[in-house]
Amino acid sequence: MRAARFLGEGRIAVEEAPPPMPAAGEVRLRVRACALCGSDLRPLKRGWPVTPGHEVLGVVEQPGHAWHGRRALVYIPVFCGHCPECAAGMEQLCRNAADLVGWQRPGGYADALSVPEQCLLPVPDDIPDQLAPLLLDTIGTAAHGARLARRVVQGGAALVLGAGPIGLGAILVLRGMGFGPVSVVEPAPYRARFAESLGARLVAAEDAAAQRFPLVIEASGKDAARQVGLEAVAPMGAMVQLGESDTWAVTETKAIRRKDFWLIRSFYFPRGDHDANIALLRADMEAYARLVDSSAGLDGLEALFAAFARGERLKPICTP
Ligand SMILES: [Zn+2]
Ligand SMILES: [Zn+2]
Repeated sequence: MRAARFLGEGRIAVEEAPPPMPAAGEVRLRVRACALCGSDLRPLKRGWPVTPGHEVLGVVEQPGHAWHGRRALVYIPVFCGHCPECAAGMEQLCRNAADLVGWQRPGGYADALSVPEQCLLPVPDDIPDQLAPLLLDTIGTAAHGARLARRVVQGGAALVLGAGPIGLGAILVLRGMGFGPVSVVEPAPYRARFAESLGARLVAAEDAAAQRFPLVIEASGKDAARQVGLEAVAPMGAMVQLGESDTWAVTETKAIRRKDFWLIRSFYFPRGDHDANIALLRADMEAYARLVDSSAGLDGLEALFAAFARGERLKPICTP
């Protein structure tokens, strides 16, 4: 089979690799689609010891297995199932999950991979291949963050900082959950126009910092955006910080010091959210479909990543 190797400095080699040999409790998954993610830009820049790709849809190829022939998404934390967090249905917080698929063990920029059985998430027939990966980071991560915020803020105006895939997912998820109006800060023109086409109001960072929003979703990972978010969150509001970050360098201004608010950090999502996330996708399928604006096979992956890194693609998928 073929698999991508990330060499560093944006270069990707496609190499012949031995077919995955599933260990006990694992299955072989033939990849149908693997969505590109902003967090992949780190392995792309540095080079990576295993094949990346962590937003994977495939078909199980394991004759005799209950999942054989079925489509499945890959839940990336290889969780233990018995620690307190797993027992509470928060497998993404498993204290024994050393490995994430596509990070510490081979992921989906390949023809096939081995996946632990407990990491298979079912995909209903009405969800097309190219949209199914959105149920992971784009909807799953954004919706989990929004659900945590809903414990303290039930509705009203929202601000999204950064209209990359998670920020765009957040705009659609917030719309599905009844928040609004949604404002967005995004410097890249293509992404900004697209966010507006979803009904978001484009605002300059300085203007956003001068307003107050019951809910702020910080999805850019930038220090400057966190500063804006902490100032823009309304008293008794919530700011949710999603995705990977730069180092934190925030200045405590008077606007930040003199208010009560919730700061929520959130990583990925519990498996138990999957059905509710499918419902969010189904309720707004045409809008979500517009996020997937390009695709390429393994041979086109390097060029696709270059365009994605320039902010010229929204949520591309690799289809090995
Ligand atoms: Zn991702
Ligand atoms: Zn666990």
